[in-house]
Amino acid sequence: MVRRRGTYQIKIRDKQLVCFFCQHDEFLHREVYTDLNPLGETVTDQLTLQSFYCTSCGEIRMFQEKNRFDHMLQKHVSIIEYTEVTKE
Ligand SMILES: [Zn+2]
Repeated sequence: MVRRRGTYQIKIRDKQLVCFFCQHDEFLHREVYTDLNPLGETVTDQLTLQSFYCTSCGEIRMFQEKNRFDHMLQKHVSIIEYTEVTKE
């Protein structure tokens, strides 16, 4: 499990992530792995979810990590962008 330290503002497909409940836009991050073996068979694949905890009300949002092709950078980049929030 990977955990990024600090507080982040998140963009998903260039859209700012805001909390459903309180409209707050700062989140703590955690990475969650889920095994895909619905029938109890050998695990062949793992689903990686990025979970974000609203720092204001604690609501959790989960997103699947995916890549998209960025035409400006000419390479595949994650659909999820993290911007660390620095507290003074
Ligand atoms: Zn919230």
